Amino acid sequence: MLRNLIIRFFPRLAATMEADSHRWMVQCRRCGHEESVWDSGGIRYKARGTVWRYGKCSGCGNRSMLRVYLPEQDEPDS
Ligand SMILES: [Zn+2]
Repeated sequence: MLRNLIIRFFPRLAATMEADSHRWMVQCRRCGHEESVWDSGGIRYKARGTVWRYGKCSGCGNRSMLRVYLPEQDEPDS
């Protein structure tokens, strides 16, 4: 997995990316389950704005639209 390679070869970059990825949240539209992007196995780095992704929710186990957003700068859905 790309993330593991980055952690292994670029530990300083990995620390920054991990910090950023912890701040971003993934929320399931179906059940409302929330977790950080990092905990969901992803990376979100130097990004801004709310995005929607289609993927599997670790809360309800269903495929659903997942909202990826930064709680501290939440924007209304457009
Ligand atoms: Zn869910």
